[in-house]
Amino acid sequence: MSESDVREVIIIGSGPAGYTAALYTARAELKPLLFGSAIFVGGSLTTTTEVENFPGFPNGVDGPKLMEDMRAQAEKFGAEMIDDDIVSVDLTGDIKELTDSEGTVHRAKTVIVATGSQHRKLGLPNEDKLSGRGVSWCATCDGFFFRDKDIVVVGGGDTAMEEATFLTRFARSVTVVHRRSTLRASKAMQDRAFSNDKISFAFDTEVAELRETENGMLAGLVLRNVFTGELREHPASGLFIAVGHDPRTELFTGQLELDSEGYLKTEAPSTRTNIPGVFGAGDVVDHTYRQAITAAGSGCAAALDAERYLSALADAAPSERFHDGAELQPVA
Ligand code: NAP
Repeated sequence: MSESDVREVIIIGSGPAGYTAALYTARAELKPLLFGSAIFVGGSLTTTTEVENFPGFPNGVDGPKLMEDMRAQAEKFGAEMIDDDIVSVDLTGDIKELTDSEGTVHRAKTVIVATGSQHRKLGLPNEDKLSGRGVSWCATCDGFFFRDKDIVVVGGGDTAMEEATFLTRFARSVTVVHRRSTLRASKAMQDRAFSNDKISFAFDTEVAELRETENGMLAGLVLRNVFTGELREHPASGLFIAVGHDPRTELFTGQLELDSEGYLKTEAPSTRTNIPGVFGAGDVVDHTYRQAITAAGSGCAAALDAERYLSALADAAPSERFHDGAELQPVA
């Protein structure tokens, strides 16, 4: 095992929150080190299509392009990026220790947690087995493979509408299966889906079973009416699951305080967690707004909170430094 020097700040997560925190801390000359992910650099926006509601882009912007540009902007000011996972953390001491997948321990005075969220599953027995064999969580990644096929999208939120609309580029038909009679998606996204001839809706319906072909590909679904319990077969060769996300906080269990749904607790309006020197930003904290722009905003707040914490540490008399975290919490 090798050890690196103690950093001012390490950021975990490469979505809008992580990259914005990197930009701000880099401009403050804190030389941030950001851990993205071994396989999923850029976060959820890299699996989206056009983002129409990020301010400053009147003609919309591609999600992956937006993330590339955020990264480049932070790098321009000296942020260092490592595309690897942090696999364990010890945040309890004054110097935080983070271990990457190769066993290298990285040490820092402050840590910004911006690990985002991961897609939720339906919980069907063969769902994982059929992943990549007809079942997907990413239309932009896999839509191309379903040219002229019949596809089902599950969910009633913005993601489901976006995926359904995008998939009509390839599919013969798209059926949105939603467990309620009304959608949760924004009106603009609903209107777009409703006006698309290739999209139909199965409301008050859930997926009861996934049928397989002999060679282990998705063959169709069994749908259940949530009121009557009536079951019916629905042939489909593609299933795109868009039923929301859960926060990525497993790494911090037992150290950082989480709420009943597993989100990181912070002392709003600050981004402070229960451990001095550790700050939370983005979807890992936020179950209310969950937008790219709100994540970016909280990444900025976390960077400012970290910067002020470090200034207070530097200002403290040597004997006070790291003595009692409570006294060194400078952020009002
Ligand atoms: P979401 O808004 O939480 O919607 C999840 C949907 O899945 C809901 O309709 C929910 O049903 C349904 N659902 C949850 N668990 C289910 C289960 N086990 N079985 C069946 N259905 C289930 O999630 P999202 O659509 O991923 O959106 C997340 C956030 O990102 C939102 O704030 C959204 O506005 C934002 N977003 C924005 C854009 C954009 O503006 N371009 C695009 C995508 C996402 P209920 O309605 O019954 O709860």
